[in-house]
Amino acid sequence: MGPHADDEEMEVRRVQPYQARKPYTCPGCNGEIGVGVGHVVAVPVDAPDLRRHWHHPCWEHRGRRRETGRRRPRP
Ligand SMILES: [Zn+2]
Repeated sequence: MGPHADDEEMEVRRVQPYQARKPYTCPGCNGEIGVGVGHVVAVPVDAPDLRRHWHHPCWEHRGRRRETGRRRPRP
């Protein structure tokens, strides 16, 4: 899996449920990501301190205009 060419270089990691030990606020929906909920961490390569925790669906729909064939319609 190669890195996605995006506007900013992001390192994206999946956090498994057992790794989620603190609640986070998702910037996509401003909702809470609870303890024990698997999610996504996006770390800007140039600014690792600005990492964000996202719900999976919020990350997938975070307003990317140039999607590369992984778009799924909402039910
Ligand atoms: Zn969210």
